[in-house]
Amino acid sequence: MKISELLQNGKITFSCEIFPPKPGADISRMWEVVQGIAELSPDFISVTYGAGGSTSKRTVEIASAIQEQHGIPALAHLTCVSSSREDIRNQLKLMKENGLENILALRGDLPKDDSIPALTHYKYACELIEDIKSQGDFCIGAACYPEGHVECERREDDIDYLKHKVECGCDFLTTQMFFDNNVLYNFMYRILAKGIHVPVIAGIMPVINSRQIKRSCELSGTQLPQRFRRIAEKFSDDPLAMKQAGIAYATEQIIDLLSNGVEHIHLYTMNNPEIAGAIVNNLSHILR
Ligand code: FAD
Repeated sequence: MKISELLQNGKITFSCEIFPPKPGADISRMWEVVQGIAELSPDFISVTYGAGGSTSKRTVEIASAIQEQHGIPALAHLTCVSSSREDIRNQLKLMKENGLENILALRGDLPKDDSIPALTHYKYACELIEDIKSQGDFCIGAACYPEGHVECERREDDIDYLKHKVECGCDFLTTQMFFDNNVLYNFMYRILAKGIHVPVIAGIMPVINSRQIKRSCELSGTQLPQRFRRIAEKFSDDPLAMKQAGIAYATEQIIDLLSNGVEHIHLYTMNNPEIAGAIVNNLSHILR
């Protein structure tokens, strides 16, 4: 099923993201994660793609297993930063052969390793979207950044580029994580004012390791609001308390979003069905 159809039927959607194991890691643990997340009955499950190629081969395998074994639509991520046009053609062929019709089209982060070629064939995600569009009947999503993409100096430019990306053939957008809902509300007003009308899926990251999240927020330019910092400072040395607080924070964030008209929630599960399950349980009457 195309995700664009799910997003247009006027109902609240709840979806989850998982990532493939690193090369050489035990794949059986991955199937346990897939099983655990599938038991939460999300509307779809997305599977990330290693921009450097490290985990990319697993994405199609896992996404097609989600569809075939669990009957849940899968969203396969695809990056282009280090790919040739031929690599992308082959990857799209493989996706078609495996019955995958939903793709999250991304540029990917620039590789830290100079020996990996980057931006040779594709500079931006919009070029990948145009390519995908020309090679099949795919439903295409893209990333957006309520606080602006970290490489873009002016937020207004970022939104102009986003508008162009949508016009290249993007059916929906998924946001980067954010911890202050006002940031999302503000972003939604700004993109609407620019004429971006595709559905936006709010990406929620439950935080159970406050040190790890501080680091990834620094890298991605995501702000941690004062309320969140206080919680992290208070509980960072007590993993069980931090876990409980992280689940409560994500739950409250989702309730506030849904109360304010946001219809689509995507949970960055970090391959942790227990945390995702606790949040779903907290929202059992709200999501159904
Ligand atoms: P783009 O949309 O190409 O934007 C990249 C930068 O270029 C931005 O600063 C933008 O402002 C600028 N720009 C865009 N278009 C133009 C233009 N026409 N002219 C000039 N400047 C332009 N990474 C992975 O490796 N694998 C994943 O599976 C993955 N999944 C993700 C899922 C989500 C929901 C999100 C939010 C991010 C994900 N990422 C993933 C990270 C993503 O690859 C990085 O954030 C990357 O740096 C940007 O990708 P993009 O597709 O947003 O790039």
